[in-house]
Amino acid sequence: MLQEAIDRCVQCGFCLQACPTYRLTDDEEQSPRGRIALAKGMVRGEISPDALTLQTFDDCLGCRACEAACPSGVHYAEILMYGRTELHRQRRREPWHVRMLYATIARPGRIAWARRAWRLVGGIAIRLARGLGARRPPFGMLAALPKPAPQSAPKATGPVQAAIHRGCLMNVFWEGTNARAAILLRQAGVSADLMDESVGCCGALHAHEGDVETARAMARRVIEAFEQQGAEQIVSLAGGCGAFLKEYPDLFEGDAAWHPRAERLAAAVSDVSTLLAAQGAVPAGGSERLTYQDSCHLRNGLGVVAPPRALLRQAGEYCELPSAGQCCGSAGVYNLVHPDVSGTIISGKVEEVRALGAKTMVTANPGCELQWRMGVQQSGLDARVCHIVDYLYEEGLKTSAPSEQQAAGTPG
Ligand code: SF4
Ligand code: SF4
Repeated sequence: MLQEAIDRCVQCGFCLQACPTYRLTDDEEQSPRGRIALAKGMVRGEISPDALTLQTFDDCLGCRACEAACPSGVHYAEILMYGRTELHRQRRREPWHVRMLYATIARPGRIAWARRAWRLVGGIAIRLARGLGARRPPFGMLAALPKPAPQSAPKATGPVQAAIHRGCLMNVFWEGTNARAAILLRQAGVSADLMDESVGCCGALHAHEGDVETARAMARRVIEAFEQQGAEQIVSLAGGCGAFLKEYPDLFEGDAAWHPRAERLAAAVSDVSTLLAAQGAVPAGGSERLTYQDSCHLRNGLGVVAPPRALLRQAGEYCELPSAGQCCGSAGVYNLVHPDVSGTIISGKVEEVRALGAKTMVTANPGCELQWRMGVQQSGLDARVCHIVDYLYEEGLKTSAPSEQQAAGTPG
């Protein structure tokens, strides 16, 4: 409940130093405490939700580091959604490429079309963008995207334990990573399968931009598909999507028909590293020096901190990035609409990797991977960036393969 979230804040300020926008600006209005105070005033009708007031919610990364730091258990995500919904109501005009992105991911058919188009022209588009040398989004981002690497995963034959939600951008630019997650999980003994492409996006990006109605329509599609598949768990390879699936009950607060269904799905949300670590999966291991960037939502929303590290410690010479738990500046579409702040954040982090001498930066979210790819490319650092699933897939697992039925299935 929004009111409960607001009332829980005792204005102690313990969250301030955890907040990237406060640390950058030293401005109370750019802090979680300041944003909560503004939301409180707006709810009470004491503060007008004008463009200047709402700008602070636009400037928020939505990283939820403040939630993790708060001793009073303030559910800041709900307060942010309120602020962003007000912003959306005032019909703020997004840049053209952001509007194009939202229009594409709103329909599963458009995502499928984009995926096919990316397979055909992705390699050329990346080469062109790199040749142009453009640094700012969207062209800097295009230059940093991974080359199309489609891969198919055999279809599970028996009951599915873990259903992998393909996502939107994940399904276009990281479709092979989704398939590799299914293969890895099966190697570790978890019967995993990809959800159908017609399920589409989970709605996180729309909700985070305040378009809650569109997000609800998308969430209903995911809930129905999950129920039909009958899996025990739902897994997303994007931290932000996984955390948003967990928040579906908030999205359907007061909806007698959908709230219980949203709660059942939320209780089934899991993450790929957690499942692999719980199965005792052991990476083959190497001597490469590697480091890891937390996905804010995986860490602060789902509380997944130890499992990816436990896997990576066995995969190479793991060294902890000092700011691993702090946002990399990707934050949904934040790096598209606030390239300067986002660029400042990633530049500092790239220098940490340089100082560590790490040769690989492992991430757990496609947005973070892209942000890091941009940072590494633009700084000239000699390091590769990849999703934890791709890293573990390349390394291989030592875990003995499960039974033929679990591993093989029929090609799909
Ligand atoms: S959000 Fe939590 S940590 Fe921050 S001021 Fe409020 S009560 Fe304190
Ligand atoms: S979500 Fe992140 S950027 Fe926004 S107030 Fe909380 S810590 Fe600050």
